[in-house]
Amino acid sequence: MAIRDVVVVGAGLSGLMAVYRLKALGIPTIWVVGGGIDRSNSVLAQGGIAAALSPEDSVDVHLKDTVIAGDGLVEEDVARGIISEGAQIVSHLVHLGVPFDKNPDGTLNMTREGAHSRRRILHIKDETGKGMMHYLFKFVSGVEKVEGRLVDLLVKDGEAYGIRVKTNGHTEDIYASAVILATGGYTGMYIHSTGNADQDGVGIALASYYGAVLRDSEFIQFHPTVFFGGGKAFLITEAVRGEGAILLDSKGERFMVDEHPMAELAPRDVVARAIHRRGGAYLDFSPIQKKGIDIEERFPHIVDVLRKEGIDPLKELVPVYPAAHYYIGGIKVDWWGQSDIKRLMVIGEAASTGLHGANRLASNSLLECVVMGYRSTFRAWWYATQEPHNERPRFDMKEYKNISPDGHLKGQMSRHGGIIRNGYGLRKVARKLLSHMENGNLPFGSQRWAQIMLSGATICSGWWRTESRGAHYREDYPEKWKEKKHSHITLKEIKQCLERIGGV
Ligand SMILES: Cc1cc2nc3c(=O)[nH]c(=O)nc-3n(C[C@H](O)[C@H](O)[C@H](O)COP(=O)(O)OP(=O)(O)OC[C@H]3O[C@@H](n4cnc5c(N)ncnc54)[C@H](O)[C@@H]3O)c2cc1C
Repeated sequence: MAIRDVVVVGAGLSGLMAVYRLKALGIPTIWVVGGGIDRSNSVLAQGGIAAALSPEDSVDVHLKDTVIAGDGLVEEDVARGIISEGAQIVSHLVHLGVPFDKNPDGTLNMTREGAHSRRRILHIKDETGKGMMHYLFKFVSGVEKVEGRLVDLLVKDGEAYGIRVKTNGHTEDIYASAVILATGGYTGMYIHSTGNADQDGVGIALASYYGAVLRDSEFIQFHPTVFFGGGKAFLITEAVRGEGAILLDSKGERFMVDEHPMAELAPRDVVARAIHRRGGAYLDFSPIQKKGIDIEERFPHIVDVLRKEGIDPLKELVPVYPAAHYYIGGIKVDWWGQSDIKRLMVIGEAASTGLHGANRLASNSLLECVVMGYRSTFRAWWYATQEPHNERPRFDMKEYKNISPDGHLKGQMSRHGGIIRNGYGLRKVARKLLSHMENGNLPFGSQRWAQIMLSGATICSGWWRTESRGAHYREDYPEKWKEKKHSHITLKEIKQCLERIGGV
């Protein structure tokens, strides 16, 4: 009997948008929600979603800002498509009633963030992701939801037949005519990450294991202004600097004006490196107050969290340091989110569409999530209605024991594979990764397995890229290549590559 189902894995904004659209198309959908929407990174998004909607703005200007931030690697045709379609989808969301902040006259209140030349960020106070997710979630009631973890993909001869999940200790196969993978990125390979521990990289690693290409995995964006309190990283949105906050060094001097013409609003990699080199910095909120903006009203969540940590940003400087924030590369996909595996669409932070190039422009990721969530459903609709699977092949069962990520390796990655890299450090991590691969205790589909594999992809691609561009900085190769080149790797190539680097 024909299989008409589509399975969506991941309950972040990209997965939610795909499910919303599939429901509208009337396609039977099974939604694997991991730990639920509140464990996604999407609910953590503070700053907002970028959309070229105002008359002072245009697709061309938004594209130009995206291309500049992306430092030569943005695929411009892809970016133009996402930016123009994104503005249309965001205006649809406004009409749907998503509670974006408004001015007293009822118009949309848009803010600015780093490397944006226009005010184009729609926001819901400083909890945009949560506001969007909780509002949109009610539109997908009635869709079948499965709480569980993805542990394997059912792939045969380059074609997806479904997924394997672990739910309540049982392993279950879910067959579908199309799989939409929306499991987020992977910044958990570093000690400090702004994201949720639920982003475990397993989805990306599995897709790549079965032959989907991983592109540009050396590009990891570090967010420059993260506050560390109670052992946890708490991001302080760029919108704070967009509204006027400045960065000071330990002597109380403003340093970003000497680093970049856009000062505090320079691209994130520039600000992150400037802070890293100084061993940290302080955020001064007082210029916002001087502009007459009510900080407690505009950034209530940030003020609340900092006060609970004993710092009043209205009176004191806030110490900040960069933390891993966004997985810029990912599974290479086409315009529709289709990966190199037939019937497997990958969307959101797990994917590499070409929009972000070597450095993501702030607030472009939520935009990409809504666009690719929409688009992936066109392909899924085609497979489910025009080319459904008619068979359920059997797939070998494996043990699927989980082992959590290794803390020491995260330390090595942070030290040698993070904000500033060099050949010596990359070689050191390569050797550490090889010893993990060779000790034999690396269960397939586990979080440790994904950590080793995806750290390996970042080290291999970072070794290959003997230049400095965007978020990838090699102090032994500070110049840029003349040509524009993406890195490509699949999981099966990683061990060999590490052996070459490690000199084994
Ligand atoms: C603190 C913070 C602030 C941010 N602020 C902004 C912002 O203001 N603007 C902006 O554009 N971007 C922002 N970003 C980036 C943006 O939030 C993310 O890129 C985006 O939300 C990713 O959405 P997603 O749907 O791809 O994945 P996610 O939202 O990460 O969701 C992934 C989903 O997959 C599930 N999952 C993962 N692994 C498995 C598995 N093995 N099995 C089952 N389920 C699994 C998770 O549980 C989760 O439900 C921010 C990120 C962070 C961390």
